[in-house]
Order: sequence, then C-alpha cells, then structure tokens
Amino acid sequence: MPLTKEQVLKQYYGYDKFRPLQADIVDWVLYGQDAMVLMPTGGGKSVCFQIPALMMQGLTLVISPLIALMHDQVQALKANGIPSAYLNSSLDGQQQSAIERQVRAGELKLLYISPEKLFTQGYLDWIKTLNISLFAIDESHCVSTWGHDFRPEYTKLHVLKEAFPNVPMIALTATADRVTRKDILSQLGIPEARTFISSFDRPNLSLSVLPGRNRIKIIQNFVAERPRQSGIIYCLSRKNTETIAEALQKAGIKAKYYHAGMPSADRAKVQDAFIRDDVQVIVATIAFGMGIDKSNVRWVIHYSMPSNVESFYQEIGRAGRDGVKSDTLLFYTYQDVMVRKDMIATSELPEDMKEVQNAKLDRMKQYAEAEICRRRILLSYFNEEVTKDCGNCDVCKNPPMRFDATLYAQKALSAVARTNEKVAMSMLIDILRGSNNKKIIDHRYHEIKTFGAGKDLKADEWADYLQQMLNSGVMDIAYDEGHAYRLNNASWAILKEGRKVQLVRYKPFEERQAERETI
Ligand code: ADP
Ligand code: ZN
Repeated sequence: MPLTKEQVLKQYYGYDKFRPLQADIVDWVLYGQDAMVLMPTGGGKSVCFQIPALMMQGLTLVISPLIALMHDQVQALKANGIPSAYLNSSLDGQQQSAIERQVRAGELKLLYISPEKLFTQGYLDWIKTLNISLFAIDESHCVSTWGHDFRPEYTKLHVLKEAFPNVPMIALTATADRVTRKDILSQLGIPEARTFISSFDRPNLSLSVLPGRNRIKIIQNFVAERPRQSGIIYCLSRKNTETIAEALQKAGIKAKYYHAGMPSADRAKVQDAFIRDDVQVIVATIAFGMGIDKSNVRWVIHYSMPSNVESFYQEIGRAGRDGVKSDTLLFYTYQDVMVRKDMIATSELPEDMKEVQNAKLDRMKQYAEAEICRRRILLSYFNEEVTKDCGNCDVCKNPPMRFDATLYAQKALSAVARTNEKVAMSMLIDILRGSNNKKIIDHRYHEIKTFGAGKDLKADEWADYLQQMLNSGVMDIAYDEGHAYRLNNASWAILKEGRKVQLVRYKPFEERQAERETI
C-alpha cells in the first residue's frame, strides 16, 4: 500500500497535521493540475511540492534562483531521508556527472536546478529525456517584470510546459501582488492554474513608523529597552551598517555588521554568532536574512525605507517567526524616497520597468505616510480582504481624527463602476469634479451620472482620499492596465449595502510633513 499524504508528512517530516491549504495543494498537484501558491516566508511552501514529489513516479525538477537556499533545502531533504540533489554553478565537473548518473538511474526524487544551469550545456535537452513528475518554480516572482526581483533567465521557463504539456507545474512565491501573479502564470504558460493564497497576516508583529531624525539615538534607546532581545537593523548602504554597528558597540550593545562586501567566511561567522545569540544585533544590508532560520528575532528596524512593500514585508517577516510578540520600526524621510527615485532613474532598467519600480516605491511611501491602520495597507497590498483595524500598529494606537467619508467613497466607486473600471486617478478626479476636457468628451464620460458629483472637493483632496481608499483596501488598482482602479468585495459592500468608510481629513502635504517632523 502506498503511503497517504498524511503518512508521508509524518514519516519524512515528523509533522502530524498539514497547515491550512497545504493538503489541498498537495491533492491538486497529485491530481495532475497546475497551481500557483502564494504563502509568506516560513509558511510551509516546500511541503506543497516535496510531498507530491515523494508520492509520484519520476523526478521532480525544482527551479530555484538562489544557490545558498538550494544547498540548505537539499541538506534538509537529505537529513529527512529524501533522495535529492542540486545542480548549479557551485559544483565541479565531477560532482555534476555524479548527480547526472544518479538522475539517470532514477535514484533521486527531487533535483534542484538554477535557471542559468537549465539553459546551458544542453541541460534542457537532457531533461527532455527524463521521466519528470512535476515542475516546481520556486521564487516564481522572478519571472515577472512586475515583481520586485526580476531575473531574465526566468522568462525562458515557458519552454518547460511546452515540452511537457501534461506534467503539472507549481509556481511558488512569498511576494506577488495580483498583477504579478497574473503575469507569472502567463509567462510560465499556465494561465489557468488554480491560485492558492494563504493569509499574510502576522498579527504578532507590531508596526510603526518614525520620522528619520536622531535615528541612532532612538535605536540606542530602543535596544536598551529590549535587553538580550535579538534584532536586525536594515540599512541601504554598507557604510551605514558599519557606522551604526560601531555606534551601538560604543553604547555597550553586542552588535555586528553584515553586508555582501565582506568575505564570505566573515559573513558566516557573524551569522552563526547571531543564531547562537552571541551577537544581539545585526546591522545589515538586504543581503542578510535569506534562508536564515532563527525563530526568536524579536524586532526589525529599517534605518532607511525599502524600495517596495514586498521587500519590506519579507524583511519585517524575519521577526517573530515563533509567533511571540515582536516589534518593527521603519524610519521614514523624504530624502530616502528621493534617493530611491534616483536609483531607479539612473538604473539600467528599461523604461516600462522603471515605471513599475516607481509605482511600487509609491506604495511603500504611502505605507510610511499613512494615517490608516498600517496592517490594512500591507494586507490590501497582497489583495487580502481586511474588515477591521489591527490594534497593533502606531496608527491604531494613536489614531488621527476621522470623518464619515461614505458619501465620497460611494461617489468615487460609482464613477469607477460607471466607467467600467477603465480609469486611473487623474481621469477619475476629472470626472468627479466635472472637468470638461477632450478625453472625457471623447469617452462620453461627461454623460455618466456621477460626472461632477464631487465638485465640492479640490483635486488634491480627491487624490488624497482615493489614495486612502486604495490603501485601506476598499478598492484595487491594476498596474498592468494603465493603473486603472478596480472594484472589490469591499467596494460593492460600500455601494450596495452602505458599508461605512472613515477617512482622515485632507491636509496639504507641507502641513502634514511639518507635523511628522515634530512627532
Ligand atoms: P517557506 O518555503 O514557505 O518559506 P518552508 O517550506 O521552509 O517555508 O517551511 C517553514 C517551516 O515550517 C519549516 O521548518 C517546515 O518544516 C515547517 N512546516 C512546514 N509544514 C509544516 C506543517 N504542516 N506542520 C509543522 N511545521 C511545518
Ligand atoms: Zn493597525
């Protein structure tokens, strides 16, 4: 009798129960169907393809971009008695041949391969001769230029499904908004794949933002208030990591810096010391954290603002993996936004990708500037429906005055509906304010019922309220279709059932900025 999936989970991993969605995903894949899995880091994505791999005839090919992660995963699999190996540029010729032999002899259940490797040395042709049971595309957001970590090699992966139309494919990622997910599936040639999304909520993480002044002093106090608690401080530059680590050391805190410019032996030493709790604080660039399994990180501070919500979410997600209350703090300065904008402008990226990066930066900036529950912003970014404020962010704890903006929301959403979800911000504002410009006349938008219904507000006010509505999840946006607004379940509840909307009264940017500086 072959083992059931529950028995496989118990025998190879020692776990008694599947986490939500895992069992459904395993069944779906075993049924020969394509799937997209969106689960936060640490959510348990691996089991979703490893268990089917163990239960099916043949070899599961896992495409993974990170050599370090590949190594760790294969170590872990082997430790659990699962025959597996990886092929990437870190191996010498002899090691490669040994693995190829094992594959041909049918001795392996899982083979990890980097996309670079897959598309060199005739590997693809070799793969075509094998009995493949399943393709797993890990970190699949790398396929999409809408994602935050695009890798050109990934775009060739559509050849897999073309060569093996009947072999199921499972795409996995921890970070992809709706637009990116759609693009991933079309790029991989599995547009009909069923998407499984597990909740991104991490209620044990507190969220807060402070203006970026006196950062070192604030950090010193922050750490002093948390004796012996492990934490990570993320910085933009290598130089920053070094100076901040030094400042903390001077204050008697066991801190070390970590960045990609250090020799790998030194990096490994720092990392190990952190995991063993010999070092309390790591001051690092984003190079730190990939594949680090430390469950009791109690806080994460961002010294500078990350370039997008995906990265931010992933980085704060390294705190509180054990489910214990943990704190996150983001320092925000307008200067950081300018630096990021500059980095995008001067990068080698093609124009359309620059636009995407700018749009993503904008969402990150909105998180930092928000006056609505920050968790709402994070979760609505991943298109998760949120119905109430979290109570565990600085905005919830110290809420600004709000007013009942249901009527404004209804006008805006109704205009979105009446223009068939085709308009972006500036056009929507023109419609609401009844501006008679040529584009509006061309589209006959001046004939819809809500034309001019929002005359009483200035354009800046509308822009602010639309932004707040988007961030609080009462509507969505389609970056891939001209940034057009989209209606979601919450929008319809507001339109049809009169669900209330509370917004913060508009204030000009300068006024808000001045307030922020004096927090
Ligand atoms: P991801 O790839 O989504 O970041 P992993 O697959 O590495 O996450 O899983 C994260 C951790 O959760 C691992 O230690 C894994 O063994 C554990 N895990 C996965 N599934 C279960 C389960 N059903 N029960 C308990 N622990 C699980
Ligand atoms: Zn909140």
